[in-house]
Amino acid sequence: MTVMLGVNLTGRDVLLVGGGAVAAKRLRRFLAEGASVRIVAPALHEDTVRLVESHGVAWQGREFRAADLAGAWLVHTATGDVHVDRAVGEQCELQRVLCINASDGAHGSARLTAQAEVGDVTVAVTSTVGADPRRSMAVRDAIIALVGDGRLPLRRRRGAHSGRVDLVGGGPGPADLMTVRARRLIAEADVLVTDRLGPAAEIVQGLDPDVEVIDVGKQPGRHPVPQEEINRIIVERAAAGLRVVRLKGGDPFVFGRGGEEMLACLAAGVPVDVTPGITSAIAVPQSAGIPVTHRGTAAAFHVVNGQGGLGPGTLEAMADATVTTVVLMGVAALGRLVESAIAHGVPKDRPVAFVESGHTPQQRTTRTTLGRAVEDALAVGLRNPAVIVIGEVASERLLLPSPSTIGAALA
Ligand code: SAH
Repeated sequence: MTVMLGVNLTGRDVLLVGGGAVAAKRLRRFLAEGASVRIVAPALHEDTVRLVESHGVAWQGREFRAADLAGAWLVHTATGDVHVDRAVGEQCELQRVLCINASDGAHGSARLTAQAEVGDVTVAVTSTVGADPRRSMAVRDAIIALVGDGRLPLRRRRGAHSGRVDLVGGGPGPADLMTVRARRLIAEADVLVTDRLGPAAEIVQGLDPDVEVIDVGKQPGRHPVPQEEINRIIVERAAAGLRVVRLKGGDPFVFGRGGEEMLACLAAGVPVDVTPGITSAIAVPQSAGIPVTHRGTAAAFHVVNGQGGLGPGTLEAMADATVTTVVLMGVAALGRLVESAIAHGVPKDRPVAFVESGHTPQQRTTRTTLGRAVEDALAVGLRNPAVIVIGEVASERLLLPSPSTIGAALA
């Protein structure tokens, strides 16, 4: 029978008997747990020597004696000699100290688990009968993977935790383009504050019914929730002890007002963290086969907010044929953008691509040029959300293999 205990070893006296490679591994683990470790061993493995020196571990260079157990909360024996390990175990039994026996397949009076931490949860696996560390690790890793994907019910049921806000990037749309961390944080959240963009719809489906979902995004016929109100919502919920995820399309720090939300949390003394996401500035052009940089074609890219018009720096860059300009939120302002670019001397035949609803089944790409962009946008009925790419990389021919490269590949 085994009872798994979560034991806190911080500052506690742990005795390691034996100085070989196994002991070195365990020493590392006990030190990481903050234990105060002593070693008794006639000789030390080179890894152990290094750890002993760097961590100031006390080492007795001799055989084990029963008196070594004095003061120990826990003993680990790995001498490489089954008889010695057994004798250590017997002494521990007499003196009522728990003992992990590395050479005993049936375990000593205590055993280590295959352990890992995800978020604020510890997963530990061990075998009921006979040690099988490799299996334990495989099971642990499988559980960790499920937890990481947000597929296990990780939400706390007891409010012992203090509230916090996570500003989470959701990527350009599909749920499988979110990060593993984003999935986990969402699975842990009490409150999810979302926008229209990003993977929100799919994610919301899978949430517990008691998770509060607040949609603050723009919707046809409805005013968006003002930024101050969003700040107030996330800060208030977190201050009340809830885990808040503010899920945003793309990356929170790319035209996502993530910086403002972060400031609001910091000002209120609410713990806040940011989880990056795949930004549409790169991923949406990519979905249409457009690399924002390309060796020999584009050496830099500018990401701009079309609503704000184009500043002198952006226009200067746009005139440079080796710079790609990626315009977000540019549909309504397209006419004005094109006009100022042409007035600034950007050639009218500069390639332009409109990529609408990138990474969704509704994705559509329109190729045009600066000179024809407005006309073609009208002709196709260009709609939000769309990314406008201006630059040589937007040319349809860019990633088409030339006859010479096809020949080279076949040769
Ligand atoms: N933080 C986001 C950008 C927010 S601004 C990010 O990093 O991606 C919103 C703009 O992003 C939209 O107006 C549009 O230009 C662009 N956008 C976001 N998702 C898109 C998608 N799936 N397809 C096309 N454009 C998208």
